Amino acid sequence: MPLAYDTPVTELPGVGPVKEKALAKLGVTRLGDFLTLYPRRYEDHTTLYPISSAPIGVNVCVRGYLTKPATLSRIPGGRQMVRCTIADDTAAIDLTFFNRPYVRNQLEWGRSYIFFGKLDLSRGRRTMVNPQLEPADAPKLFGSLMPCYPLSAGLNNAQVAAWAQTAVNTLAAPEMETLPPQVLTAHGLRDAEWCCRQIHRPDSFDHLQAARDRLAFEELFHLTLGLSLLRRSREQTPGTPLTAGDPADFSALLPFALTGAQNRVIGQCAADLSGTVPMNRLVQGDVGSGKTAVAAFCLWRCAKSGAQGAMMAPTELLAQQHYRTLRAMLEPAGVTVALLTGSLTPAEKKAIRAGLAEGEIQVVVGTHALLSHGVDFHDLALAVVDEQHRFGVDQRSALAAKGRCPHILVLSATPIPRTLALIVYGDLDVSVLDELPPGRKPVETFLVSESKRQRLYAFMDKQIVEGHQVYIVCPAVEESDAQEGDPTLKSVKAYADHLAKTVFPHRAVALVHGKLRPKEKEAAMASFAAGKTDILVSTTVIEVGVDVPNASLMVIENADRFGLSQLHQLRGRVGRGAWQSYCVLVSNNKNPDTRARLKTLCATTDGFQIAQADLEQRGPGDFFGARQHGLPQLHVADLGVDVRLLSRAQTAAQELLAQDPGLEQPEHAPLKHRLRQLFAQNAHMFN
Ligand code: ADP
Ligand code: MG
Repeated sequence: MPLAYDTPVTELPGVGPVKEKALAKLGVTRLGDFLTLYPRRYEDHTTLYPISSAPIGVNVCVRGYLTKPATLSRIPGGRQMVRCTIADDTAAIDLTFFNRPYVRNQLEWGRSYIFFGKLDLSRGRRTMVNPQLEPADAPKLFGSLMPCYPLSAGLNNAQVAAWAQTAVNTLAAPEMETLPPQVLTAHGLRDAEWCCRQIHRPDSFDHLQAARDRLAFEELFHLTLGLSLLRRSREQTPGTPLTAGDPADFSALLPFALTGAQNRVIGQCAADLSGTVPMNRLVQGDVGSGKTAVAAFCLWRCAKSGAQGAMMAPTELLAQQHYRTLRAMLEPAGVTVALLTGSLTPAEKKAIRAGLAEGEIQVVVGTHALLSHGVDFHDLALAVVDEQHRFGVDQRSALAAKGRCPHILVLSATPIPRTLALIVYGDLDVSVLDELPPGRKPVETFLVSESKRQRLYAFMDKQIVEGHQVYIVCPAVEESDAQEGDPTLKSVKAYADHLAKTVFPHRAVALVHGKLRPKEKEAAMASFAAGKTDILVSTTVIEVGVDVPNASLMVIENADRFGLSQLHQLRGRVGRGAWQSYCVLVSNNKNPDTRARLKTLCATTDGFQIAQADLEQRGPGDFFGARQHGLPQLHVADLGVDVRLLSRAQTAAQELLAQDPGLEQPEHAPLKHRLRQLFAQNAHMFN
């Protein structure tokens, strides 16, 4: 059978059930999958160094001959060791080979070899351990850039490289091109076939770079185009205009005056909602900027217009809190609000499902339980997704699919740099709440070490005496988690116990963590919100969205364990009232980089600045990983570094769509076909 793109890897020589599994872990099940299994790096076998001038501490190629015969010896543990010394005209290197006894016979006296390995210095002598080697008069590796593939247990690089070459030799062809000729020309890009060959076996670093650039461009181009098409297809299906409910009447329902930013964003939402093109809007606002009020407006307007709205939150805690807030705001206006989470009893769930199906419930708040089979709406016209970064694009569409093209509102407190936002939220309009409610004082943040613990406890007590409450967040839940690795890692349970019994016996200390039953969590949170608990010890379950304005101090134990954006989220739990609030980062970590990272947080409360610092320090993985869910993977492009490429790809996509909005022209058929494959999970949204 001739090999083809869809040929299962098991047809390849050397792939049995074990290797098949190992390859599947890398996402490779068909021959064609090897084409996009890109090498992680390349070993440079192109430069031959004179030994005396070869750089120390890196992999290098050198040529040399034996200066005396190699010796074989046994070392403890039953291992075998071959040692020898090689030299060229400039200097010598001591070589050691572990468990490769055959090397002794391989190295012929008087013959010259090329060695590739990491050169080190030991007691003034050059050394190399386990280098690769080949005869200098018949080199195969030398002169090439050796691809190093991602591997999983049970695979070795030489095998994977060979299979990838088979794939390239069989499948690389002019037909694999999906980029229109004008895009290739305008952006000076090499063709697909050439790039496919070069990325797997580059002739030179320059060619490799050209191939890499094109492939990264292509990924970003596909992503941008796909998102635009998704958006277009959605905009072509009319939604329900929601026209009743004036913003001015809404503000009368609130216990506070809206900020300028809230008014502006509510105005934008009102305009979106009145139209037949469904709203598709992201509201980005730093923690505490009052995003819930914007959601409340949209849900209220939806109810006033006689339709149903749903709001989905990532945690049970948050869903409960929104439920309380929305009930307080909307029920006086005659809107029925319900809560649907996984922890309801079957009977409760049944009642709410019936209320939703019959249209008696106008607004429902819930967790992803809202997505369950059997949750049907009478007329869902608005879907709100809170803290979007916890959900994937596919979950957003799953909620939307419960209605007929409902309006969509997405709330996010993770401020992401603009370039990333364009990709991650490329299919959304963006509003920014860039103003905090009046009277807020920026949270003062301190970095302290263990030695300040007694002073910290005294400070906590002072906050409580002044009538405020304290959060303490720890990274681990169980004793066993805590003992792994870092002995000072605070286990919430043991720690809460210690605080309650020994340090603060005169205060009310409570505990929440992810392993509690939802009812227990709810009770603990409700008691904290009601001011009955002074100190709430918790894991990061309180990270997102929880709102208890009376809390004035956030203590974060082992702060170095958290990412900057996460710390910023945690800190956002305080500073929600008119009084001065504080955040104390406890860390004994002495690493200068870590301390610098944590200091960023002491220096600024600007979420965008912190997100930018996080991006620079840790790369975009965290921003992108979870959110990207449901979108095609980026194999080559790196959003942290390929910013210029991204904007070029976006321009190219816009130009193409301006000329052929639905990619209907025959010459764009291969491109459209590829997009369908890449966006397979969202394929129903292409027309
Ligand atoms: P986030 O944007 O982090 O979701 P919330 O919607 O939870 O913020 O609002 C944070 C706090 O600010 C809540 O206690 C809310 O009642 C309060 N709040 C929101 N808007 C205003 C406003 N315009 N004036 C005063 N307080 C406000
Ligand atoms: Mg919120």
